[in-house]
Formats: sequence, structure tokens, C-alpha cells
Amino acid sequence: METLFTQALGLAAPWRVVNVDFQQAAGRIVFKVENTAKRLTCPVCGAADQPIHDRLPRSWRHLHFFQYQAFIEANVPRVGCRECEKTTQVVVPWAREGAGFTEMLEAFVIALCTHMPVGAVAQLLGVSDDRVWRVLDFHVNAARAREDHAEVRRISADERSARKGHRFVTLFCDLDARRLLFATPGRNAETFRAFAEDLAVHGGDAAAITDVSLDLGAAYQAGTREHCPNAKVSFDPFHVVALANEALDQVRRAEVKQVGDLKHIRWGTLKDAADWTRKQIDQMHWLQRTNLQTARAWRLKQALRQVFACGSDIAQATTLLDSWISWARRCRLAPFKRLATTIKKHRDGILEHFRSGLSNGFAEGLNGRIQAAKARARGYGTDRHLIAICYLICAKLKHLPKNPWVHAPQQAAA
Ligand SMILES: [Zn+2]
Repeated sequence: METLFTQALGLAAPWRVVNVDFQQAAGRIVFKVENTAKRLTCPVCGAADQPIHDRLPRSWRHLHFFQYQAFIEANVPRVGCRECEKTTQVVVPWAREGAGFTEMLEAFVIALCTHMPVGAVAQLLGVSDDRVWRVLDFHVNAARAREDHAEVRRISADERSARKGHRFVTLFCDLDARRLLFATPGRNAETFRAFAEDLAVHGGDAAAITDVSLDLGAAYQAGTREHCPNAKVSFDPFHVVALANEALDQVRRAEVKQVGDLKHIRWGTLKDAADWTRKQIDQMHWLQRTNLQTARAWRLKQALRQVFACGSDIAQATTLLDSWISWARRCRLAPFKRLATTIKKHRDGILEHFRSGLSNGFAEGLNGRIQAAKARARGYGTDRHLIAICYLICAKLKHLPKNPWVHAPQQAAA
């Protein structure tokens, strides 16, 4: 039986299972492993055939054995090296240095954390949340350290609320590889410095970035100018239209006092016509037959959306945008006059979108996953935990431990 488990644990001489201790009442099974070598290679300097100084008992949690918690216990040799004169514990083949879980259990923990809240994973395994976070932090950081960002050219920067309250993280996405590159607390120009430094650590160069897609906030523009000096800024259409929706809603709210029916029309005015319900169709047809300011505001908003339907036709987009700006400036609706000023100021970057074809759509698309990340990090006070989960599920990390349940044929199919 010991031979079977030696093979099942993937051990090779001089390591072998010498005893299996099944403690049914305690719900656990303990595999006693021994290294029977008389002399070993020094783990520090590599000198072969060095004497063993002593053996120290250690224990690792492993994947479950049926429904029982499984442990590996071993007296791990320390080599007393004659060459470098250091006494050093040898590295065991089933766990990384200093870990209390075997590599397979760590890989399983990582796989679970991509689908479940950390608290639930900890509960499932009967360990503290902290232990799960330590495993996660270690492997996410180790995997990220090996990521290569040398080819990064086109990025987006986006702010996300980190948790309830007023904390924000900025997400930098690689729009070509469609992955999260970097996430950091804050949303100011300094945030870009942190990004540029992180990019350099991963073999990239902020000066090589050609395009950055942004919302219209001033801080990110300043950060781009300073840290990505060769990048052209494209403003994200979604954020531009969102400003028009805000202006529209300001007009509607001001007018509700005179026209009560406008109270119920909010969603109809904000939604795409294709998504209107039967009731919203009736409401919007009513609105369009009125001479209300809200009706005019809605037409302005629709016209701005129309600009972004131009695809890559930059000439047509330029004509439509310029006529929109002059319409909005004359429209006698204060929120849209202000928006016209904003849009005129950002005109080049808005039109740049039609050349670059970039948007923050990829980052927006991560929203669902970021929400899941927030749920998985819920109850943990730091942004660091949220960011670790974001990397785990959005960064396409190539060097995370492989899920031990995924067998070779399925990997080949993936
Ligand atoms: Zn040595």
C-alpha cells in the first residue's frame, strides 16, 4: 500500500511513503514520508554528497483523500554542507518553501478562488481566510512577476469604485491582448506613474504606448501626457454619451416640477429605443409630440449618439460632431450648453476614437467579473485583496498553478 501512495503522490527515491495513518474519528489521514538518503546535495551551493546534519518534523495539508483531510508528514533532512558551511533544509518535492499546503492543494485553492468567495473556500477546507489569502497573494504575485508586457501598445484606463464609499481603483487594460494589466488604488495623475513603473518592471515601456482610451476626466489626461508622452488620447464613446445622458436628466428633473408625467419617463429617455418596453414606447412617443425642453434634450442626446454610429468614417463624424456642438451651444438648455463646451474642448480626442477604433468597452465588459471580484473579496478591508482577485480573473495570467483536476486531454482541447 505504501508503494501505491508513493506513486500516487508522485514521489521518487529517496522520498517514499513509509506509513499511512488513517485516523477515522479525527476525519484525517496522514501519509508519513521519509527521505532515507544518507548524503544529499547542498541546496545552497549545489555541492554533491554532503552529510545530513539532522531531520526536522514538518507537516503539509494535501488534497482530500475521499472525504478525509489529508496530510503529509516528514522529517525533512537538513544538509550540513562542508563546502559552504551552511546548514540548510532540503526542498521537498510536494510543496514550495515555507508553505503549509502542498503544491496540489495550493493549485486547487487557486482554482476554487476563481469561482468562489475566499471566505467560502476557507470554510470548505476548514482553514482560516488568511491562509487562503496568503496562497492567493503568493501565486498571483508570482504569476504576475513572470508576465511580459513588452508588446503593450494600446491601453485603456478606467476608474472603478472599490467598495461602498468613496474608494476607487484604476484599471489599466491591454486592448490588444484583452487583459487587465495593472490595477491600483486611486484615480489621479499619479496613478499613471505607478502604471508606467509597473509596466517597466514587466519589460514594457510607457513611451512605446501609442494609444490610450480614457473618459473625459482631467486627471487621466494629465497622467497620460506626463507618463505616456507618445500616446494619442481617444475618448471613450460610452463616457461621452454618458455625459449627454446626465445633461438630459438634469433638464428632465428641472422640468418635472411643471410636467409631472416626466417623473416616470426617465428610463425611456436613457435607454436605447430598441430596448423600450411597450409602455416606454407610448411614453416616448408622447414626449416626442411635445414641445418640452426634455424632448429637445433627448433629441440632442440621440444626435450625439448618432455621431458614434459613424464607424471609422472620420470625415462624417467630424461634420456631425461640429454641427452637434453648434446646435448644443444655441439650444438654450444650460446643461447642454455646458456639455457643448466640454465636448469642444475634447474634440480632437473624441474624433481620435474614429481613427483608433478604441474604446473602454473591454474594461466595461469586465464589469461583471469585477462585481464578482468585489463579492469574492467582501468583508476584507483592503483594496489589495480586491486587486488580487481582479488579477486572478481578468489578467489572463499564464503562470498560475494548473488546476489539479484538469487532466491532460481536456487541457489539449482547451
Ligand atoms: Zn553548500
